Amino acid sequence: MANSIWTIEEFTCPGCGMKYTATREEHAEPHSGSFKCSICSGEVHTWSGNHHFFGWDAVKTKPRVFGRRWAGVEW
Ligand SMILES: [Zn+2]
Repeated sequence: MANSIWTIEEFTCPGCGMKYTATREEHAEPHSGSFKCSICSGEVHTWSGNHHFFGWDAVKTKPRVFGRRWAGVEW
């Protein structure tokens, strides 16, 4: 279909704060589903309606360093 619309949305796990992105696809018929965090098994997002989410992916964020310089890179 020429008029299918995909948008990428970002979600944050309420349990551990892990960030995920998912692709939202609009549909003519209702869909429902849910996604659970792969780290803490918390429910990151549930949906129902004329859209669906797929392609869940964890967002890799850089670790925060408080009051330190990047003196030594350990990896
Ligand atoms: Zn989590």
